[in-house]
Amino acid sequence: MFLALPNNLLEKNRKPPRRVLTCKVNHGRAKVVCRNCEKNWYIPAPVGVNEKLVRCQCGSSTFIHFDRRSHPRESICRLGALVFPQNYSIPVYLCDASPVGISFICTERDSLMLTKNLSITIKYRSEEGNEIVRQIILRNQRKNRFGAEFRGLPLT
Ligand SMILES: [Zn+2]
Repeated sequence: MFLALPNNLLEKNRKPPRRVLTCKVNHGRAKVVCRNCEKNWYIPAPVGVNEKLVRCQCGSSTFIHFDRRSHPRESICRLGALVFPQNYSIPVYLCDASPVGISFICTERDSLMLTKNLSITIKYRSEEGNEIVRQIILRNQRKNRFGAEFRGLPLT
């Protein structure tokens, strides 16, 4: 299945732009664990701040990303498809899913057809191999990576 992916998708996935540590935010603070010395401590996570460079006593610094999602996300690495009217579809590579939404990446060329708040159908297979068809609304975009919210119940 992975062999079917366009090369540029794989390339993107393999090389993140920089090392970012994701820290869950709980009651306005996040626990940071130093990757160098494993010391851990809490830092405040002010509203509106999503990323911060923190420096440990050992001298090592890390970019941390505050994770404020209240729903646990399941990591899913699978291909799916966005289905446009007239049954035109584009392949997407699913990143993660939660009970309320899903995120995916597509090729840069295909990303030009997508805009924030676009309502579209996504199709993919569950772990068990069942086909899932759901209506989604694109909520955020970071280059060719999109986060979307599910609308209504599964269509299948
Ligand atoms: Zn350290």
